[in-house]
Amino acid sequence: MSDVSVLGLGVMGAALARALINKGMNVTVWNRTAAKMKPLVDLGGIAARTVASAIEASPLTIVCVGNYDDTDGLLETEDSQKALPGKTLVQLTSGRPAQARQAEARAAEAGYSYLDGAIMAYPNQIGLAETIILIGGNLDAYNGCSSLLTSLAGDLTYLGDNIGLPSTLDGAILSIGFGFTLGLLQGSLICEAEGFPVSDYAEIIPSLMPTIGAEGKQVAQKVADGNYDNTEASLSTYSQFLDSLITTCGEININDDFLRFASKLFHRGMDAGYGDQDVSALIQTLRR
Ligand code: NAP
Repeated sequence: MSDVSVLGLGVMGAALARALINKGMNVTVWNRTAAKMKPLVDLGGIAARTVASAIEASPLTIVCVGNYDDTDGLLETEDSQKALPGKTLVQLTSGRPAQARQAEARAAEAGYSYLDGAIMAYPNQIGLAETIILIGGNLDAYNGCSSLLTSLAGDLTYLGDNIGLPSTLDGAILSIGFGFTLGLLQGSLICEAEGFPVSDYAEIIPSLMPTIGAEGKQVAQKVADGNYDNTEASLSTYSQFLDSLITTCGEININDDFLRFASKLFHRGMDAGYGDQDVSALIQTLRR
């Protein structure tokens, strides 16, 4: 019997298995493309010949494949269904809240415990003290494997028994990332066009994080409170600067698609009469 089995040894699954092996655990591994098991076996992992034998080998199985349909394909075979009852399965594949709820219902029907998780990190951060993995699901199941999962992420965060919460929060946090990344690329375009080294721009970014973090918290808190009256930077101030930036982009002949999209949303908020309120007041038009 091993301590844990890992199904899926892509970039992330291999990092998970490696971290567990490096912590001295007995780890059974399985991957569709068998060759990816070799580096883990070289480290001390045990290769399983089938998904069902991997599940049978440990009380706990971690799945990290491309998407939930891939997971379903692995778990819905007759052999897997025979192996699963009484076990705990932790899904670390990215998915949607509705898929997590379906997976939990199927697990209850089949007689095994199910936890759903979201990895808030890159593979090279797996195993670090500051790495965050969000987990949702039954508390007893969580208590049964939390110390093992802490080997993967020092900042393991249990969100309660609402199984949809990890993927909900994953989406909410990734939403910040999408806007942030597009903003960074726009900034890089501006620097390139004006001859400011993008490598120097890159150096400035980390020093901005405390301010961006504090501002982000304030915006979300105003949304939570529903109070947009007190502001240091109104929606119309933001909007005017944004429109001036779009003019700059025209003058230096660079793409402004992202800024125009943002400007359209800001103007919708102004047209709705929120110009004098905090920029967070924009949520009222986004809700519609
Ligand atoms: P990846 O390198 O592309 O690996 C995908 C894994 O899924 C491989 O093991 C692949 O097997 C397996 N797979 C795909 N389709 C399958 C199927 N139909 N049946 C069985 N196995 C199948 O992707 P990854 O980066 O490891 O990501 C895995 C999961 O972690 C994703 O849900 C991703 O969103 C999540 N995640 C990744 C990161 C990251 O930074 N990489 C961060 C957070 C979360 P083969 O080797 O046989 O193709």
